[in-house]
Formats: sequence, structure tokens, C-alpha cells
Amino acid sequence: MKDYMRESEVTYVLDTTALIARVPLYIRNNCVTTNSVLNEVKDKYSIQGLELIDVIGKLKIVNPNEKYIKKILKKAIQLGEINLSKTDIEVAALAYQLKYGTKNHIVVITDDYSLQNLIAHLCIEFMPLRTRGIKSKVVYEVFCPNCNWKLAPKYGKLVSKCPRCGMKLERRIIKTLNLHEECNEVTRSSMNMGVKS
Ligand SMILES: [Zn+2]
Repeated sequence: MKDYMRESEVTYVLDTTALIARVPLYIRNNCVTTNSVLNEVKDKYSIQGLELIDVIGKLKIVNPNEKYIKKILKKAIQLGEINLSKTDIEVAALAYQLKYGTKNHIVVITDDYSLQNLIAHLCIEFMPLRTRGIKSKVVYEVFCPNCNWKLAPKYGKLVSKCPRCGMKLERRIIKTLNLHEECNEVTRSSMNMGVKS
């Protein structure tokens, strides 16, 4: 009996860093991303012309449902991951939607530590490209160093400045967990893709 994972059963969810690294050219099947990632790469980075068409041709674009975006945003606020962009939230929401909505094995490819932390807390596997990746997952408390305002999980949005006095918010780690803690499965791939910049 075959008990190993076939490549075709793995779906790779790509964030902006993965698309800039042209991951779809190296992994031939099942690369998925959101419109927002694609637009971000088109707007800001240098994949252009024929190469862009080649990269996009190997990509499936799926936009996550609003209910998952809301759920993941809530999780990000709860973790104090205030530096995540709307695009990052959508990537995590897509990974979550695919993981719990399909039978495929989901791996998020990202070099962003904040996104890795969020993904690990969602008990989804991630794979870094050029960085070593986080070794543990953390929860931050977000606070204002001036007036001591604190970001509560129910606040509803990610903020980098204090809504009360305008000061840049700071954060401190209040909980550290092993990557696999509170999950039943491995959240970090041992696979080495060998993608070079
Ligand atoms: Zn303040």
C-alpha cells in the first residue's frame, strides 16, 4: 500500500513572496493564490511580460469566502499580528478554506514570519523559501506605550497606531508554543524545494 503523499495531492497556496520568487515555474501543479496577491505582484514587482504570463498560466486564482476572511482576521487580531496586510489575511483565509473544504493537503509557501505564525496557529503547514522559517508560534499582546491602550480580540481590525492617542503600538510576546502544539499534525514541511532567487 502506498502511504506516501503524492505530489498531485498537495495544493500550494502562494503569498506575494512566493510569487515574486516565481514558485509556479518550479512547482508544476496545484499552485493557488488570490487576486490580491496577483495584483500586488503586478503592481509592485518586476515579473512582467512573457514571464508573468508563464507564471500566471501555472496558477489557479481563487478568492476566499468573506466568512473565512472575517474568521482569519479575528484570529490575527487575537494573536496580535498587527503587521499583516489585507492580502496576507486573504492568503491565510484561502489556505483555511481549502484545508477544511477539500481533502487536499495544503502547504502555504511564504517567507513572511507574521504570516507563518498565523498559518501555524491555524494548524496549516507552511514552507519558507529563502528564510529558515519560524521555529515556534507566538501570541503577542499589543499595547500603546503612551496611554496603555490594549488591542482586545474583539476590536475588529488590525491597527498599527493607537486609536486613542495616535502613538505607534508596540507588542510583547505573552505565549510561546511549539509549532505543532495544539494541532494534531505537522505544520512545517521538511521538504526542500531548492528554489533559488
Ligand atoms: Zn495611546
